[in-house]
Amino acid sequence: MSDVPENKKPSVYDNVTKQFNKAADLMKLDPDVRQILARTQNEIIVNFPVKMDDGRIEMFTGYRVQHNNALGPYKGGLRFHPAVDIDEVRALATWMTWKGALTNIPFGGAKGGIQFDPSECTCGEMERITRRFTFALGCNIGPEYDIPAPDVNTNAQIMAWIVDTFVSTQPPHERQANIHVVTGKPVESGGSLGRDKATGQGVVFTLEEWAKDKGFDLNGATYIVQGFGNVGSWASLLLKQHGSKLMAAEDASGAVANSDSIDPEDLLAYAKENKNLIAGYPRAKPIDHEALFETRADIFIPAALENQITAETAPLLSVKVVAEGANGPTDPDGDEILQERGIDLIPDILCNSGGVIVSYFEWLQNKRSEFWDLEEVDSKLHKRIVNAYGRVRDTAKKYDTDWRTAAYIVALSRLETVYKERGIFP
Ligand code: NAD
Repeated sequence: MSDVPENKKPSVYDNVTKQFNKAADLMKLDPDVRQILARTQNEIIVNFPVKMDDGRIEMFTGYRVQHNNALGPYKGGLRFHPAVDIDEVRALATWMTWKGALTNIPFGGAKGGIQFDPSECTCGEMERITRRFTFALGCNIGPEYDIPAPDVNTNAQIMAWIVDTFVSTQPPHERQANIHVVTGKPVESGGSLGRDKATGQGVVFTLEEWAKDKGFDLNGATYIVQGFGNVGSWASLLLKQHGSKLMAAEDASGAVANSDSIDPEDLLAYAKENKNLIAGYPRAKPIDHEALFETRADIFIPAALENQITAETAPLLSVKVVAEGANGPTDPDGDEILQERGIDLIPDILCNSGGVIVSYFEWLQNKRSEFWDLEEVDSKLHKRIVNAYGRVRDTAKKYDTDWRTAAYIVALSRLETVYKERGIFP
């Protein structure tokens, strides 16, 4: 991977490249392994027709990028969003490889999505788009090959439609053996208890470890959250149990703040009645995007999209720690500014890894026809996150480097070992 030419605005994939090169240089990653990991393995683009409610046929473009499967089947979410493109999916797929390697689960990295605005579609259209995309992907996904999951604007219902479409295209006697083709399914359709909250839970587990390290009390601590969907709302609900206080929140509809704090349960109840959006929430005042970043708090949880903490916004933050619920919310300029300003960072591939870890648990339960209770899921998740957190902390010390680079070094070391042990066919 070579860094961005000077006259080009960095893309999300350029950010991944920069992060990768920094870690690979520092750890002196084997040059052969470096070449392999610098490329995605497969990039699938499908164009497919869907009949809309008014009878029109609309063409959609869907993506699935498979970055690497040295550690196990490709694994990663599906995003429905107007900004989805090959560059973004490539970046998200690459981060998934690092995440699986860092958390010691037997999965590689992939990601996919469709470029469209789900808020403009009816439920029936969403179902047909999802089913037709699944059909178009065909055997490019599969329970032992590439396993999608929810991401931005996709949820358990979408996963249920995918599993139903996928198994319907299998021979009858093989249908039941294929339900682990996706994770994040509804519990009744083979999902795992605790998967809905898993990513937010993982964010909070990493914050608990950070607080222990710093001698910081989460009880009474203040936080701001950007993105109040699956990850942002669950992280907020779980921080409430610690006695932490939500001071401001932002989603695609706008931002709100209350200097006496906002009850996340009340905010979520309001959003559920308002198309899952928080604008107009009556027990807080509307604020603009800049004011969100300027809100004084101990913790900032970006849980929306990429490139939010940048050269423009990082100087506005006055927090002690950024816990990256989203993938890639901080660009390399933002990273540098946070470091200069002494703001701690729990990097995305560690902080939001709870989702893929519990996806792994769901996949295992499906394969073994088991059903674990919530305590078992939570305690196994906790153990893995604490373990990964400790390895990142120790590696940051050993290499005297920042936490993002340390997390990369842990992940890349595992991949390097596997490639060296197995060699390259033929
Ligand atoms: P979601 O669709 O449930 O929620 C996304 C939230 O972001 C919504 O509240 C939306 O309104 C908000 N948003 C969208 N555009 C915004 C903007 N421009 N400014 C502010 N807010 C905006 O998605 P999610 O599953 O919660 O995913 C959020 C992030 O977490 C993504 O980066 C995703 O890749 C990452 N992530 C999700 C999971 C998971 O299990 N769902 C796992 C790991 C990482």
